[in-house]
Amino acid sequence: MRRSIVLAALLVLLTCTSCALGLLQLPGSKSDDDNLSLMLLGILALQPAGPRYEFQETTVTPTTANANYYGAGITGYSVVVSGSTVGPFNPSEIFQAEQNHAVSNAYIDFQQRVDSSGWFFSRNAPLSASAQNGSTFHLYGATPNLYTSIATTATASSTQTLNFAIIAPSNSLPMTYRRIRALIPASSEESNFSPDSTTVNYKLRGMSKVWSTEKRLNVNLIFISGSNPAASTTGIAEAITRMTDLYTQNTVRIRPVISSTTIVLPSYLTLTSLSTDTTATGSLGGLMVNTASAQRADALNIIFVKNETAVGGVLGISTGIPGLPGRVGTRQSGMVVMFDGHLASAGAVPSSAEQRLIGETMAHEGGHWLGLFHPVESNYDTTQNNYNRDAISETPLCTAAGVGLAACDFTAVNNAGSRNVMFWAGTAGFDQSDLTGEQGFVLRRHPLAY
Ligand SMILES: [Zn+2]
Repeated sequence: MRRSIVLAALLVLLTCTSCALGLLQLPGSKSDDDNLSLMLLGILALQPAGPRYEFQETTVTPTTANANYYGAGITGYSVVVSGSTVGPFNPSEIFQAEQNHAVSNAYIDFQQRVDSSGWFFSRNAPLSASAQNGSTFHLYGATPNLYTSIATTATASSTQTLNFAIIAPSNSLPMTYRRIRALIPASSEESNFSPDSTTVNYKLRGMSKVWSTEKRLNVNLIFISGSNPAASTTGIAEAITRMTDLYTQNTVRIRPVISSTTIVLPSYLTLTSLSTDTTATGSLGGLMVNTASAQRADALNIIFVKNETAVGGVLGISTGIPGLPGRVGTRQSGMVVMFDGHLASAGAVPSSAEQRLIGETMAHEGGHWLGLFHPVESNYDTTQNNYNRDAISETPLCTAAGVGLAACDFTAVNNAGSRNVMFWAGTAGFDQSDLTGEQGFVLRRHPLAY
């Protein structure tokens, strides 16, 4: 989530495997002309025409009980699912699970195991204390051991088996488990990427990376009719340009390929709940289910609504970190931008500065949906643990009181970071352009990047 924040105030706001070469083959160029074929292989290497991934969906029943998994007296039930080998040389995978339980303070959780090294918790993002759905992305960063308490972890030189134990609070309800695995292999540059560990100035750390190839990402804009007078690709052209500039910078080099549609859905102009635990009218979950016809399975779906009344001041929200690609109409099938949250005057045509902020929200929530966390959460000044930071070794860890935009605008590890696109708060006029090379590494390995 991303919320608006005034610079001096402490409003509390909450909130890919790589590119391979596709080969162009001409009709009739076969084994009777090997020289021509070889020449074509050598010369006519193109980017893939679109993302390539496999999607698996299974209904399972959790069985193994841990009597006190969620705390005293709240049982957790698990099912172990096998992934594939892990490490930067292998495809990335996104895992998502749902169970329609109604147990308080119990949510879908993922435990991750790297072969023979024992279990550890992976950082997933339940959207509420009783979340019915959850997701996780492997790898989070180039140094995934940031989330492990064990010494051994997946590295570039190791290929270890990845298993998940998905924990749910009920064994009387089925659980839907989905796995999306990239089929485009990592490039050599991505496989061998090393985070910046030497730049002293944390405003610059990780910012000198230049990825040598440009990848692409389908971005599908869905405008709810009446959300704003400027609700069209031409109306928010400056916002689209801002998002494109952020994603095509040297540290990322992913070009959004934009498509758009407008749908009439008046009951979702204002979101009254930002939960995906429900599909009730006006809820975030309901919005995702009811815009299925406008969504694309092979794209980041960005849905534009007028506003929200659930929290106040929210600029945008992703339905998961990461969301669920490869399937439309699920409760985690996209992200949302609230027009009015960006505007000095609700319902007005956004100014250039406001469009710039909208573009940054698109990039920020898109970053969440693709797997990036906030470098630190808004409470990192008082709660410094792995669950309140990202797994990106390059991003600073601001501990300044309040974790505000101004307080985190310096150059040391503990007072920098608010210029990052993924900072937890933003406001019009405060440029947030930074994505590090390692954040780019995560985005480039997403199954939809091609
Ligand atoms: Zn956020």
